[in-house]
Amino acid sequence: MNLAQFPRRRYTAGWTPLEKLENLTRLLGGPNIYIKRDDLLGLAAGGNKTRKLEFLMADALAQGADTVITCGAVQSNHCRLTLAAAVKEGLHCQLVLEQRVPNSYRRHASGNNFLYDLLGVEAVHVVEGGSDVNGKMEEVAADLVKQGRKPYIIPGGGSNPIGALGYVSCAQETLAQLFDMGVNIDHIVLTSGSAGTHAGFLTGILGENANIPVTGISINRKKEPQTDLVFGLAQKTAAKLNLQREIRREDVVVFDDYVGEGYSRPTQGMLDAVRLLASKEAILLDPVYTGKAMAGMLDLLKKGYFDGDKNILFLHTGGSPALFAYTDVFFGIQGGTPGAGGYR
Ligand SMILES: *Cc1c(COP(=O)(O)O)cnc(C)c1O
Repeated sequence: MNLAQFPRRRYTAGWTPLEKLENLTRLLGGPNIYIKRDDLLGLAAGGNKTRKLEFLMADALAQGADTVITCGAVQSNHCRLTLAAAVKEGLHCQLVLEQRVPNSYRRHASGNNFLYDLLGVEAVHVVEGGSDVNGKMEEVAADLVKQGRKPYIIPGGGSNPIGALGYVSCAQETLAQLFDMGVNIDHIVLTSGSAGTHAGFLTGILGENANIPVTGISINRKKEPQTDLVFGLAQKTAAKLNLQREIRREDVVVFDDYVGEGYSRPTQGMLDAVRLLASKEAILLDPVYTGKAMAGMLDLLKKGYFDGDKNILFLHTGGSPALFAYTDVFFGIQGGTPGAGGYR
């Protein structure tokens, strides 16, 4: 696959680290657990959206945009990083935030909410849960056009075939890095949300004929719709790359057992996984995505799903700023203060 044919901006110097988790491996008694530190990508506080934005922002700039518009939940890492990329490029950024619990967005709340303000968001448009978020982004764009501005809409999570190229590039980087380290990985585990990460990474692994199974842990949807979402986006991404190998639905593996009550709702497994990685490896996971994905990986390990595998790689997609909006949850304070940027 030749990714150099697509315009790209660079927001990270070199490769993100790939490390063996010695303490966790010892604690579990094998297999060897490795982690790809995409939480250390560039832009404000890093995370997976940075890779997608390298291609998305290059496209926005090629189209002469002066403003990017995107959407997400109240504590969206994607919104924070899109805004950060816009700051770097000298563009304006407007956000449409879907408030799934009434009054959960507060400008003065902690976590990513605070960072929207600090990074200088031009406008935040709050809509109620279940609203037509894409329609709202179109409306915001139309208003800007009327003022003579040039808006560019980035879909939720940056998950379209252009954004997914970022995770095709991560698959290439990871394979090169593992070869460099002399490590042969048997299985890769990642978080499956708006699907750009899962679809892009899987397309990259298949496109390189790497023959490493990729397992996605859903943090929102049930298995079937999530599989459809990943499959559809992987097919479109493969078409963009002119991939010879066909992507099959069976290539997409999703577990939906670790969502709990729903998107961004805490689970005991998440709390335990976040505490475990912090206290044994000094690695900060997040409450909405990687905490649940790690909880899933640990549970699947216990159940023998990885039996026979010597080396497993977990893709850390970032999100630690959201931890600061969840302190009440970690301390078991009932009710907490969801308005203070807590979960929605
Ligand atoms: C967005 C996000 C994900 C999920 O990635 P998708 O490409 O949306 O599936 C995982 N982890 C973190 C920290 C995220 O912010």
